[in-house]
Amino acid sequence: MHEDERRPGWDAYFMEIARTVGTRATCPRASVGAVLTRDKRILTTGYNGAPRGVPHCTEAGCMMVDGHCQRATHAEANAIVQGALHGVSLAGATAYCTHQPCAGCSKLLISAGVVRIVYADPYPDAVSSELLAAAGVELEPFLPDQVRAHT
Ligand SMILES: [Zn+2]
Ligand SMILES: [Zn+2]
Repeated sequence: MHEDERRPGWDAYFMEIARTVGTRATCPRASVGAVLTRDKRILTTGYNGAPRGVPHCTEAGCMMVDGHCQRATHAEANAIVQGALHGVSLAGATAYCTHQPCAGCSKLLISAGVVRIVYADPYPDAVSSELLAAAGVELEPFLPDQVRAHT
């Protein structure tokens, strides 16, 4: 096999990084990772966990409300917050998410200027899909077998 054919495509490369980022998650309910990129460069990363200075779920337990942990900030939101903290514009970015973003995160991604979202695990959400479509943000499932090394 030619060497170029063994190299992962950009989507596979960034999704693998998103999965690695997700291993840092501090809410035991889910290991979610997100990587925001532009022009094949990483801008920010995020995993689900408590806000800065707040005890993690792993230390203080989850704060469950209606079946969802309210202590942890979602990975996608944390990736956006990292941009705010460091003054990194996310306009025109592509988001690689280990899980399909919820409606709340989709709204943040839209307003942060993200133009494309690639997700691995599907979590279909009608509200999220409608908002993303209305905003013109591309929402694509990650296709691991698709060879995109040359694109
Ligand atoms: Zn939690
Ligand atoms: Zn979310």
